[in-house]
Amino acid sequence: MNIEKPKNKGMVYLVGAGPGRADLITVRGAEVLKAADCIIYDKLANPALLTYAGADAEIMHVPKRIGTGSFTQDQINKLLVEKASSGKTVVRLKGGDPCIFGRGSEEARILAEADIDFEIVPGVTAAIAAAEYAGVMLTDRNYSSQVAFITGHEADSKQQSSIDWSVLAKFPGSIVFYMGMGGLQFITDQLIKNGMDINTPAAVIADATFPNQRITTSTLGLITDKCKQENIAPPAIVVIGAAAFSDTKLNWFMKKPLFGKSIVVTRDHHGNADFAAKIIQRAGNPIEFPTIKLKPLTNTNEFLHTLEKLSKYDWIIFTSTNGVCIFFDCLRDLAKDARVFASTKIAAIGSRTANSLNDFGIKPDFVPDVFTGKELGNQLISHANLQGKKVLLLRSQLASVELIDLLHRAGADVDNVPIYTAVTTRSDCGPLTKQIVEGQIDWLTFASPSAVTAFFEQIKPDLINSGNVKVASIGPVTSEQLKKIGIKIDLQADEHTIDGLLDALEESEKHKT
Ligand code: SAH
Repeated sequence: MNIEKPKNKGMVYLVGAGPGRADLITVRGAEVLKAADCIIYDKLANPALLTYAGADAEIMHVPKRIGTGSFTQDQINKLLVEKASSGKTVVRLKGGDPCIFGRGSEEARILAEADIDFEIVPGVTAAIAAAEYAGVMLTDRNYSSQVAFITGHEADSKQQSSIDWSVLAKFPGSIVFYMGMGGLQFITDQLIKNGMDINTPAAVIADATFPNQRITTSTLGLITDKCKQENIAPPAIVVIGAAAFSDTKLNWFMKKPLFGKSIVVTRDHHGNADFAAKIIQRAGNPIEFPTIKLKPLTNTNEFLHTLEKLSKYDWIIFTSTNGVCIFFDCLRDLAKDARVFASTKIAAIGSRTANSLNDFGIKPDFVPDVFTGKELGNQLISHANLQGKKVLLLRSQLASVELIDLLHRAGADVDNVPIYTAVTTRSDCGPLTKQIVEGQIDWLTFASPSAVTAFFEQIKPDLINSGNVKVASIGPVTSEQLKKIGIKIDLQADEHTIDGLLDALEESEKHKT
């Protein structure tokens, strides 16, 4: 990691967290977060970014609102100086860009005066992100060759305003107000009073880059009332000028099929995080409800004994990414590596499992074109003569016997060695139950039969069947378990992977009018 910290001296990074969505932070921003001893973050910085923090990092939230637990700018300045003076690498994480209406300049000055080294890591500022995530083009050469960023905060304290409204009213480009919601009426009144056309396009973009992003468009004269009617609340960006006549064709983000859809993910903690990140990339709103915890079974005598004789097998079959990762974790702990596979052929149930094997330097010899245990069995039998061959299955203790039966019938000598199991974990059902009852959930997703069982041990099946929430299953084995419990299935993925499940959700939403 490229972190230049002076020896025995502290250092402060003033980092832009980006406008909201966690993956809009810069590479440099993420890099310094990983190296920080202390992270001091603002209200507008997405807390999801704290997953970059090291296990020992001290994390401090310093919102600047009135009330308990709030901080003044002076207190924050002192904190930065104090932490850095004690030799720490400090990240001051601020929403958007640290110096665009972010008081980063004040913090930098205080650090310079205290002779503390600092680096400024720019961030994607809200005006640019909000406009681009809503298809509002601030500098389209057809109508705007200039853009002005203005604080709307001053509008509240009118007497001291340093904004020259008569100049601004004549500005021949896009005007963007930050913090403009509280004083929106005042802003529009001032512009109109100073000669701006009442019919000038105006747009307000709230919660930009998040799945609950909203855009309201109108004219300078009517935008305040429209925002009130539509309950548009901060944080929001106000755009005034021709650019605000937003072309809905360009609103790529809000047009995504999963935009704003609340999708419950029910895998283990790690699997949920991976699934949730993919939902966010598709503009959806993931709700994580872990149902199971994976428990490695790699310390059993059976497994350790199997490991000793791996080279005796003709084929080893992996049926999940989890199995691959747990297997290689165990190899690493035993100071072994991929050479244990030297003479053995490897089969993977599907593309994700194959990718995981690739990550560990193994290119599987066989992957079926339909990703189920049954297809893996049938297609492997056609691909290779398994008569008298030794086959090892390294998979979940809960996997079905169907694959074993198929391989036996083809004359294989099968060892089925469980490498992990799934145990139920309890989540707090209250918030999710409430959201389901209130119709705030669009989809419940299931990626394994064990997640189905664990979920419905906690949430009553009637709640699902009687509501508007839809149920999506990754494949036939999971669907079977849902049917057993009496759950109506709205969708089953054609490709039995998380990406396949997301594709199916998108297709379903696309065809809904
Ligand atoms: N330094 C920040 C701005 C801080 S001022 C930056 O560069 O973006 C806070 C204002 O930023 C809010 O009042 C709002 O006008 C705007 N803002 C921040 N996040 C936003 C978001 N996700 N959507 C819309 N506006 C946002």
